[in-house]
Amino acid sequence: MKVLATGRLPDEVVTLIEKDHHVEINSKNKPMDRESLLSRIGDKEGLLCMVTDRIDTELLNCAPRLKIIANYGVGFNNIDINAATERGIPVTNTPGVLTDSTADLAFALILASGRRLVEGDRNTRAGEFRFWAPLHFLGQDITGKILGIIGLGRIGKGVAKRAAGFAMKVIYYNRQRLERGEEKALNVVYASFKTLLEESDFVSLHVPLTPQTTHLVGQKELNLMKPSAYLINTSRGPVVDEKSLLEALKNQVICGAGLDVYENEPELTPGLSDLDNVVLLPHIGSATIETRTRMAQMAAENLLAGLSDEIPPNCLNCFDLSGNRCSD
Ligand code: NAP
Repeated sequence: MKVLATGRLPDEVVTLIEKDHHVEINSKNKPMDRESLLSRIGDKEGLLCMVTDRIDTELLNCAPRLKIIANYGVGFNNIDINAATERGIPVTNTPGVLTDSTADLAFALILASGRRLVEGDRNTRAGEFRFWAPLHFLGQDITGKILGIIGLGRIGKGVAKRAAGFAMKVIYYNRQRLERGEEKALNVVYASFKTLLEESDFVSLHVPLTPQTTHLVGQKELNLMKPSAYLINTSRGPVVDEKSLLEALKNQVICGAGLDVYENEPELTPGLSDLDNVVLLPHIGSATIETRTRMAQMAAENLLAGLSDEIPPNCLNCFDLSGNRCSD
């Protein structure tokens, strides 16, 4: 069968897919442009897509033979799942294998923003480190502070585990409270959304992007945060109203922010990159050699299962063998 992979994959993963199928790969180290995607999908049975690809009705209408959409990422807000489901196409993602690398990065942003690491690096490179002084380049303690996690799922729990090493008090907000035993094991305390915003020294976002989480943090929520607090976002850009965040950072409504994702990626809200109190990363939550390799293997396993008419291991819109939907 024919497969389109819209991003580069490790050689061993390509070999695995090529054993039984013909693979067309975007060999450039950048996203496939929309026109190419639409023009190349027509004769494909399999699609291994990146989180930068918009998989919508327009694309699915160009893909009459498609049997499986294997997303290379855990977040799947780039895919119209309902449109795929209507056409009987399973959609898969790569949960779990990127949890640690993304939690590491969220924690790196907590440290980098609280201790002004990037600003300090810029300053030192610019030749501005001329003396040590007691009130020079003061940041804030991380140890012992309150970390508020919004979305205590796989990655949020990973961040909570890391916070234990810094003796942080962790509070969290989910729609569904965890079982008390799990809360105890993770040493986390449930809080309302409002209380979490009011009490946290660091607020870290780990929700998926959905209609409910779009602009979950805007002007009203930023105003609830302490003036000494930091907002960390490694989830998806549109979870934060970036214009309101820019104003809050400019006017010291909050102390700082650490961002890996942006509302209109890869564009930044004008003015954001002029500010010293925000650390800006280029969406690299899962970007380690080990994690990206595991993600590629997992996406390929899902793809191959779908091409063989098996239920893929990480199906988001489960189908049984006769093509009937099992659950949402
Ligand atoms: P997950 O295990 O599904 O966790 C998501 C958590 O968010 C759950 O605890 C869920 O709990 C909570 N949640 C969902 N909707 C919510 C709402 N409206 N209000 C409050 N909480 C809500 O997902 P994960 O594997 O941790 O991944 C989380 C997200 O991280 C992904 O969807 C992806 O967008 C992002 N991500 C980014 C990178 C990067 O490179 N920066 C890398 C990997 C993942 P309830 O259902 O109880 O609310």
